Amino acid sequence: MSDVPKKTEELKLNDDLQQDKGESIADLVRVMLTRIGEDPTREGLRRTPERFERALRYLTSGYHQDPEKVLNGAMFTVCYDQMVVVKDIDLFSLCEHHILPFFGKCHVAYLPDKRVVGLSKIPRLVNMFSRRLQIQERLTNQIAQAIQKGIQPLGVGVVIEARHLCMVMRGVEKHRAETITSAMLGAFRENQQTREEFLSLIGRRSV
Ligand code: ZN
Repeated sequence: MSDVPKKTEELKLNDDLQQDKGESIADLVRVMLTRIGEDPTREGLRRTPERFERALRYLTSGYHQDPEKVLNGAMFTVCYDQMVVVKDIDLFSLCEHHILPFFGKCHVAYLPDKRVVGLSKIPRLVNMFSRRLQIQERLTNQIAQAIQKGIQPLGVGVVIEARHLCMVMRGVEKHRAETITSAMLGAFRENQQTREEFLSLIGRRSV
């Protein structure tokens, strides 16, 4: 997987962080565990701060990746003017308000204007933007804008259906556990038929 940051980049980031703050994420987690009344030296928690740091670095590795590089190099010219749909892309992100997971499915479609991109690049793009602290609306928009900019199609549609643990675990919005967001650009915004075709292909009547 080439979208994982290289070792050297990771080390450099580590250095920057240590110079800025003087403390590693793991050190800060040890303090946090103490503050919530835990004993960070007990057996089960001894290596938790380092594990948490590694997990957090992975889950936020999207900051150091360039969306244009993901799409560039995988683009090719075709005589195909039908809608390209990539649906049910697994999505895992962290909400910026609570740093708790939100997760669900992302559906992406575009109407090519002579250019298409390798299908595996769309999920990679979704992963890249998901591995940042996000709000669902912005994540949806960023995916749509990156495809519009990179592939320059006649239009783009993105729908995300997700559950937010910050709401589910705290019992907020019990009855509407799934949050649905959409971003429609170009033909998907202007042409009702195009939008409806996309929504019916992903099994929705509306968003
Ligand atoms: Zn939240």
